[in-house]
Amino acid sequence: MTQRTLVLLKPDAVRRGLTGAILSRFEAKGLTLVAMQLRSIDAAMADAHYAEHVEQPWYPPLREFAVSGPLVAVVLEGDEAIGVVRALNGATDGRAAAPGTIRGDLSLSNRENLVHASDSEESAAREIALWFPDLPA
Ligand code: ADP
Ligand code: MG
Repeated sequence: MTQRTLVLLKPDAVRRGLTGAILSRFEAKGLTLVAMQLRSIDAAMADAHYAEHVEQPWYPPLREFAVSGPLVAVVLEGDEAIGVVRALNGATDGRAAAPGTIRGDLSLSNRENLVHASDSEESAAREIALWFPDLPA
């Protein structure tokens, strides 16, 4: 089934000059770019995006990281895109993520792990509406 998913190339990806390399992986897989924007976010936007995590002890430093510089927000589309992109990203902790995944190959951190991707159809719909409110369905 064709799906859309919201992906963030987090501030570490922009700082490290890895946005092109990461986008290349998604494109090479066959996913289609539907929307893309370089932007800086404030704490309120970080809290809205990470609403499910704001009570976690590790959330304050995550918020600092999220607002620490520009990021690239992307909507990708393709067959089973939500699960496919999660698999390409790899496990949350870059130190544990499998080689061959974006995090496994390029991140050594459980916070600065380069990428975000929606984890369900419900979160994809919520996150796409949050980041790209004017995107046609
Ligand atoms: P994922 O991004 O793989 O869906 P989560 O939704 O669990 O992971 O967490 C959101 C983000 O919060 C992670 O990508 C990571 O940047 C950060 N994070 C998660 N767990 C931790 C942790 N234990 N310590 C620091 N940062 C964390
Ligand atoms: Mg998550």
